[in-house]
Amino acid sequence: MTRTALVWLRNDLRTADNPALHAALQYGKVRAIHIEATDGKLRRRGAASRWWLHHSLNRLALDLAQLGVALETIEGETEATLLQAVAANGVDAVYWNRRYGPAEREIDAGVKARLKREGVAAESFAANLLIEPFEMATGTGKPYSVYTPFWNALKQRDIAKPLPTPPHGQAIEPTRVDTSYREADWGKKLGKHWQIGEAAARERLDRFLDELVLDYPEDRDIPARAATSGLSPHLAFGEISPRQVWHAAQAVAQHAPGKASAIDKFLSELGWRDFNYNQLYHRQDIATVPMVAKYAELQWRRDDAALTAWQQGRTGIPIIDAGMRELWDTGVMHNRVRMLTASLLAKNLLIDWRQGEQWFWDTLVDADPANNPGNWQWVAGSGLDASPYFRIFNPVTQGERFDPAGNYVRRWVPEVAGLPDKLVHQPWQAPDATKLAYPKPIVDLKLSRERALEAFKAL
Ligand code: FAD
Repeated sequence: MTRTALVWLRNDLRTADNPALHAALQYGKVRAIHIEATDGKLRRRGAASRWWLHHSLNRLALDLAQLGVALETIEGETEATLLQAVAANGVDAVYWNRRYGPAEREIDAGVKARLKREGVAAESFAANLLIEPFEMATGTGKPYSVYTPFWNALKQRDIAKPLPTPPHGQAIEPTRVDTSYREADWGKKLGKHWQIGEAAARERLDRFLDELVLDYPEDRDIPARAATSGLSPHLAFGEISPRQVWHAAQAVAQHAPGKASAIDKFLSELGWRDFNYNQLYHRQDIATVPMVAKYAELQWRRDDAALTAWQQGRTGIPIIDAGMRELWDTGVMHNRVRMLTASLLAKNLLIDWRQGEQWFWDTLVDADPANNPGNWQWVAGSGLDASPYFRIFNPVTQGERFDPAGNYVRRWVPEVAGLPDKLVHQPWQAPDATKLAYPKPIVDLKLSRERALEAFKAL
């Protein structure tokens, strides 16, 4: 009798380098399931992520159909839903790739124990990081809390070679996957900026390594240039694995030694993703608990009007508003500008970083359970190896430095587009500033900087 394996897909929506799928295909007949989990202890995905997920699952269903694998998506409590699918399909083995959040691990361990008790084989695999967090430790056996030694140790390790795309099997009619996402106008807008799915992720990586990586170290901080890989949502949903990125990049470095140091820089940014996942794995819930305990004492301000102005890109500070509008329009924001907008919120406005993190969680298509809180804590100062508390970005000088001709700001904030370069980052200095259809800054940058320094120093 043919044995049946179930692949339980989560943040690994790809066919290549997918060890759980690979194992299932070796095992016998294969079905695939994605659970839209309703478990109370899990963080619910944000709106932009649900949009991406819906389309990504539908792309994956097409690819899986070529392998003869049917994919279904079910909404429900994880363990009960999975056990139901096992019973309904006469499943003998369930395979999945690991995830690293504390609540997710607890659920997965429970599911594994339960399946075993029911006489169903269950196995989990390493697929979504370069190195498993429990395999990374300092000389004294502790988790890393500083990035440089972490990165130095990681790059000495053997990164597993990615598994190839499985050969086509007896193709089946693809299933249409329904999720709780309902097409909204916002989703249509996001759709103009993205090609979703495994093939698109691979193309992006190849184009980046071919055309852009050489200038990455110089240009990655310039928000007006599309100089970075744009891989973050693909990585967040596992449409491509970091091991695929790593080995593709290393292969290019070998064949084109002139690109080697740029590729090193690129991979060192990818390393931050593993670093944040190490924090997610080892610490308490990093989306809510400051990693450095004393930051729990910080007296945040409650200012709903300022929070809304920040969210809507109406702070009156052009580079901040440009970033927040870019986020709303495209589902991502340039990394440098993420740092500036986060710093304005958590430091100049002294609004709790968790409120900003939640907004990003809801609106980013690359919203990532490790990278989003990890970076927010980095900016707010409460992260391990964080930006020091006295580092408060000045959005005017940062704008002048990284967007000197104002191209980025002019694109997203047309209200200031007509100003000369030297005023575009501080329109309030323009002689006829009052005539601009643009608000005055909601906060005095100098005074709010001093206020933040005092609040942080008091800790
Ligand atoms: P590239 O420069 O091409 O880098 C390649 C990959 O490396 C990225 O796709 C990402 O997976 C990883 N990477 C790069 N920079 C970082 C970093 N600082 N931290 C962790 N990983 C990094 N990134 C997310 O993937 N999801 C998030 O939810 C997220 N939230 C952020 C919130 C704040 C406040 C800040 C300051 C940064 C956040 N980042 C987040 C990190 C970074 O901004 C994005 O990863 C990057 O802008 C994505 O663009 P890219 O893929 O072109 O990056």
